[in-house]
Amino acid sequence: MVDVLVIGGGNAALCAALMAREAGASVLMLESAPRAWRGGNSQHTRNLRCMHDAPQDVLVDAYPEEEYWHDLLKVTGGQTNEHLARLTIRASSTCRPWMQKHGVRFQPPLSGALHVARTNAFFMGGGKALINAYYRSAEQLGVRIRYETPVDSIELDGGRFVAARSGTQRFEARACVLAAGGFESNREWLREAWGQNERGEWPADNFLIRGTRFNRGVLLKFMIDAGADTIGDPSQSHCVAIDARAPLYDGGICTRIDCVSLGVVVNRNAQRFYDEGEDFWPKRYAIWGRLVAQQPGQIGYSIIDAKAIGRFMPPVFPGEKAATLAELARKLNLPEAQFMQTLHRYNQACRVGTFDHTALDDCHTEGVAPPKTHWAQPIDVPPFYGYALRPGITFTYLGLKTNDQAQVHFGGAPSDNLFVAGEMMAGNVLGKGYTAGVGMSIGTAFGRIAGTQAARHALQTSGVERAQA
Ligand SMILES: Cc1cc2nc3c(=O)[nH]c(=O)nc-3n(C[C@H](O)[C@H](O)[C@H](O)COP(=O)(O)OP(=O)(O)OC[C@H]3O[C@@H](n4cnc5c(N)ncnc54)[C@H](O)[C@@H]3O)c2cc1C
Repeated sequence: MVDVLVIGGGNAALCAALMAREAGASVLMLESAPRAWRGGNSQHTRNLRCMHDAPQDVLVDAYPEEEYWHDLLKVTGGQTNEHLARLTIRASSTCRPWMQKHGVRFQPPLSGALHVARTNAFFMGGGKALINAYYRSAEQLGVRIRYETPVDSIELDGGRFVAARSGTQRFEARACVLAAGGFESNREWLREAWGQNERGEWPADNFLIRGTRFNRGVLLKFMIDAGADTIGDPSQSHCVAIDARAPLYDGGICTRIDCVSLGVVVNRNAQRFYDEGEDFWPKRYAIWGRLVAQQPGQIGYSIIDAKAIGRFMPPVFPGEKAATLAELARKLNLPEAQFMQTLHRYNQACRVGTFDHTALDDCHTEGVAPPKTHWAQPIDVPPFYGYALRPGITFTYLGLKTNDQAQVHFGGAPSDNLFVAGEMMAGNVLGKGYTAGVGMSIGTAFGRIAGTQAARHALQTSGVERAQA
């Protein structure tokens, strides 16, 4: 019998597998994806949010615990467990040497649109390189890996793990770590969570999945039905507005459209619906998925003029381009008269002061609803550009309740050999909202704890078994 079974194949699973193996346990990992698609959403990531009290290799200045904690408190609106959040934050300050030992490389700070060198450490080669490095290290250390092995059920004895099943295959282990992601690729579950709107639409039908198709929430659902304690709201998720032409799965970060705050956004009726200049784009991009999801047909159109070009990270695919606003409306299939009226009203309402996209400047609108409170400039210099936007779901927040030892709980009682990490428990720290890089902080912290605890339990149990034999 294997000591530790790890279910999943992304960052949290790999951190758990590596820690358990380093502690001396035999480890088997079950990944539902084929080898070419291994790594879940983690393969799409770019960075890790890291606490640090002084400059550290690729991180500049300082990002102390209190500041990180307040950033988290703000985005979650208090829906976070302070003890587990602080544990995650502290772990983010010490995990990088361990990551480097397993082959992860960080890149020197970049300038321009991606400049977050104080708070976030970027992976050289992105999440794909991180995942490949961890798999390489796991194989070298003797972790056994089975691909194309989706676990569909768990055998429990009370709150104790006995075995996992994938079809007709059965895997016994002394301890188990669940790290099989959220349910963002399960359309039926998303439909159920988002429900039907007042127009009779099912908004979730038009969501695009930014990451893996393999996070279907099968294990999460199984565990909920088996009586595991849960945390979080099924309709809460990280959801951004992305290029409507993005593929249904795995579009990753290159499908982002980052020009919203430089222009206006209209719905398919050519009407504006939210303050595009409310705050800096990195602080607001994660609300636009939900905003677009609430619009008819779950579609929006980001409109800019020539003045915006060069001020945002250019999208991979060019938008529609036109010499006049009327032509742009026609190219985007928007009602032309309404579009012209919306743009005319907005342009008339702009009170341009000193435009500064790096500050909450004084360019704003007056007498138009909704207002645009910063960076408001008339859209009047051709060529004009338009990008269709759809909600892009990153990951869901409903998860299993846990504690600082990453134990799964049943009716308030912690299991002694079943642990959880990553998206499957991220809701303990992230009840809503998001701040860039915290997903990997949570997965790394809890993956490492879960692996350590699972190994400790398994090695104790096998010691007892040997003594009894
Ligand atoms: C486009 C994109 C960009 C992102 N960028 C960042 C970033 O820069 N920084 C950051 O912190 N976060 C980022 N995130 C969020 C981040 O990806 C997640 O928070 C993190 O990867 C979660 O890790 P995980 O191991 O829990 O899940 P995943 O990496 O998704 O891994 C889940 C694994 O479980 C497997 N699995 C699922 N069901 C089963 C089953 N039944 N049996 C066996 N295996 C199963 C899947 O195949 C997958 O391998 C991004 C997400 C996306 C989609």
